[in-house]
Amino acid sequence: RVKEKWAVSHPKHPPTRLALQHFDATYAVQLGQLWPSARVALLSERKYGALLNNFSNDDVLAELQANGCRDFISNTDTEAQPCLEQESIDHPVKKSDDDAQQLPPLQLSPNIKCVVFPRGDITRFKPARPDAYRLLGYYLLDAASVLPCLALDVQEGHSVLDLCAAPGGKTLALLQTQAIRFLCVNDSSVSRTLRLRKVLQSYVPKPFLTDQNLRITSFDGTKWGEIERNTFDRVLVDVPCTTDRHSLMEDDNNIFSKNRTGEKRRLPQVQLELLLAGIEAACPGGEIMYSTCTLSHIQNQSVVEQAIHLAREMHGIDLEVVDLKPLTHMFRETFHFTPELPLGEMVIPHLAANFGPIYMCKLRRLT
Ligand code: SAM
Repeated sequence: RVKEKWAVSHPKHPPTRLALQHFDATYAVQLGQLWPSARVALLSERKYGALLNNFSNDDVLAELQANGCRDFISNTDTEAQPCLEQESIDHPVKKSDDDAQQLPPLQLSPNIKCVVFPRGDITRFKPARPDAYRLLGYYLLDAASVLPCLALDVQEGHSVLDLCAAPGGKTLALLQTQAIRFLCVNDSSVSRTLRLRKVLQSYVPKPFLTDQNLRITSFDGTKWGEIERNTFDRVLVDVPCTTDRHSLMEDDNNIFSKNRTGEKRRLPQVQLELLLAGIEAACPGGEIMYSTCTLSHIQNQSVVEQAIHLAREMHGIDLEVVDLKPLTHMFRETFHFTPELPLGEMVIPHLAANFGPIYMCKLRRLT
C-alpha cells in the first residue's frame, strides 16, 4: 500500500483559507450586513452567462432560449432605460428609481447579447460548438463582466484600447458591437496574450483581424503613456486584482499564496498606474472604464479617487465620473448591486444570482 504524501504536498495554510480569513476581516467591516450572503455565494458554484458571437452563422440564440435562457440585455424593462448622466466627483448626484424612470432611453449597443438561466436556476451551459467556418457560437463568462463593456458605450468609428485584455472575454464583447474602427488589445503576459489570440481566432473571422483594424501587444500597460497619449475614444482598464472568487476556490495560481505576498501588496499601486496610463491614452472627451473582479474598497474606489487626483496634479487632465445608476437600474432583475456606493457601481454575488464580483467606474476626460 502506498502511503499518501498528503502532509508534504498540502500546505498547512492553503491560500484559499488565507483568502477567506482576509476577506472575513476586511469585507465584514466594509460591507456590513451584505457580507454574510456574499460570502456564501462566493463559496458556492458561480453562474455563467453565454456571450453570443454575432460572427458565427449558427442561430444558437433560439436553441439557448428553448433550453430556458434569456438575453438579459435585450429583455429588460425598456420603460426604465435612462441615459448615462455625469456625476460630480465632489457632489455625487444619486438619482432615485423614480427619477431614473423619467429620463430618456439608455444608449446601449444593440449588438451585445448575453444569455443567462433564470434567477435561482443553476443549470450549466454546454460547451459551444464550432459552425461551418469553425467559429464558436458563444463564449462563457461571468455575465456581470459584460456590464463594463456595455457601459463603455462604444460608438460607430471609435478607436478603442483594451489595456489588460487577456484572456479576452471583454475584448470579444467589445468586438460584438461591430462599431470599432481600430482596436488595440494589450496584456503584459506573453502566454496570456497567446491565449487571447487563440480566443479571437476561434470567434472572429480573419478579415476583422487585420493590421488595419487590430493591434495585439504585450507591453507593460503602466508604461502606455510613454507610447501613446490623447489617442483613443474609449479605453477599458480591466486590471489585475485579488480575483476574489478564484482566490477562495482554487489553490493553484492563487495571489494569497505565501510566495506572491509582494505581488499582492503592490496590486493597488499597479492598478493606479494602469488607470493613469489608460486616462492618458484616452483623447480629450474620451471615456475610460476602470473595472475589477474584487469587492475590495482599496482596489476599487480608492484607486479611482487617487487616479482622478493624480491625473489633475501630474498631467493637468480633468475628469468627470459618469453616473452608472441608469445601468444598474436597468439590470436590477439580473444582478445584485451594492446600494449607495459613493463612486462607481458593484455587482455583489448572491445565491439567487451568483454573478460577480464586478466593480466598474466610468470616467470622462474633460481636458
Ligand atoms: N480583460 C480580461 C478579460 O475580460 O478576459 C481579463 C483581464 S485580467 C482581470 C487582468 C490582466 O491584466 C491579466 O491578464 C494580466 O496578465 C494583465 N496584467 C497584469 N499586469 C499588467 C500590466 N502591467 N500591463 C498590462 N497587463 C497587465
